[in-house]
Amino acid sequence: MVTLHHTDPELAALLDTEVAQQNSTLAMVASASIADPSVLAAGGSALSNVTAEGYPGARYHPGAQQFDAVETLAVERAKHLFGARYANVQPHSCSSANLAVLSALLRPGDTLLGLDLDAGGHLTHGSRASVSGRHYNSVSYGLDESGRIDFARLTDLVLEHRPRVLIAGASAYPRTIDFARFRAIADTVGAYLLADISHIAGLVAAGRHPNPVDVAHLTTTSTYKQLGGPRGGLILSGREYKTPGPDGRTPLHRLMQRAVFPQSQGTPSPASIAAKARAFAVAAEPAFLETARLIVHNARALARELSALGYQVLTGGTDNHMVLIDVTSAGLSGVVAERALEECGILANRNRIPGDTKPPLVTSGLRLGTNILAQRGMGPEQMRECAQLLHTVLAGTTARSDTEYRIDPALVAIVREEVRWLCSCHPLPIDTTAHVPVSLIGVGT
Ligand SMILES: *Cc1c(COP(=O)(O)O)cnc(C)c1O
Repeated sequence: MVTLHHTDPELAALLDTEVAQQNSTLAMVASASIADPSVLAAGGSALSNVTAEGYPGARYHPGAQQFDAVETLAVERAKHLFGARYANVQPHSCSSANLAVLSALLRPGDTLLGLDLDAGGHLTHGSRASVSGRHYNSVSYGLDESGRIDFARLTDLVLEHRPRVLIAGASAYPRTIDFARFRAIADTVGAYLLADISHIAGLVAAGRHPNPVDVAHLTTTSTYKQLGGPRGGLILSGREYKTPGPDGRTPLHRLMQRAVFPQSQGTPSPASIAAKARAFAVAAEPAFLETARLIVHNARALARELSALGYQVLTGGTDNHMVLIDVTSAGLSGVVAERALEECGILANRNRIPGDTKPPLVTSGLRLGTNILAQRGMGPEQMRECAQLLHTVLAGTTARSDTEYRIDPALVAIVREEVRWLCSCHPLPIDTTAHVPVSLIGVGT
């Protein structure tokens, strides 16, 4: 079989190194997960060669029979996984999905209410850095003193600004999101509720977080985060799928079809849609339930261990896959903590925390996630080791400024070795010989 190693050794070597690094690194980036090899294979399949705008049965190009069947399969599997009545699998990302939803429900200048970026919200929830905050009149809600969503303030803001769309969802929030409460508040002014479950889609699919699909009007998610799918987005709707849009006539499901194509995207990505179909099937298997259970138990254990080591854990703990800590007590900024950890083979990203006084590229916090640790089969016992390793690095790092630091190279070597050992005891669920999809599916033989 001819593989990338023969045809392009330079590129193959880079991809080889990437696999080796993923295998020997403790990845605790909360937005990341490991895609099953079958998902990677589907995503690298020859279906990518098909160009066909439109939807199954209504394409603007010929030659889409298999793609029609694949997209229909992906839609059916998405509906089954989330208990939805409508699914659109074409968004190229959740950012695209959110912007499509907003553009269908809002006219420029209309009011949108979302969680503030600095409080853990997403750019597309109305941040000024995104078109969602520039084309619409964006208002933000935040957190209360305990670090939880401030529903009292949210209720006041809804009554004061009467948004047309309320967004529930976050990129950095370690607690359960009470979608029913959001819906009740949205209903007081007749706002549409958009639930964005990008970070928690795996827990929702596995029944470990309340499912918003029948509660919100529309639900969006990334497919590559906790779902272990390809890069991409998904729009879902449940009970409300036939509810009229802002024109009082067109049902939401029809509005969404148009909002994605032709209003905001051109050709879909057929191979990515095949990979989504595969990922939705993987997420419906019993093994995924066990991973979801470990994700939650590990996060709780990690939060407990870090508290015991003296770190301030935001909200005092976690309900999902995420643990947010304040690293200023260790005398470090978020970016210094991130870089020192990376040097030691541990990946976790800097994050702003409520009341943060440091700039966005510096920050005072660190965001940790347990998706990949759970996928490796690690359990709460290993979280003690992980917390210890984190602490060893953070306590052994001396900040010279918010961006400069020193760490003893001997300490780096020791931690790296321990990380390597821990990783080798809990290998990634990927076949390291099958890292290049073309070799996996035998294309090029
Ligand atoms: C990551 C994220 C997105 C954006 O997803 P992409 O697929 O990366 O565009 C949207 N919303 C939330 C809450 C996210 O965490």
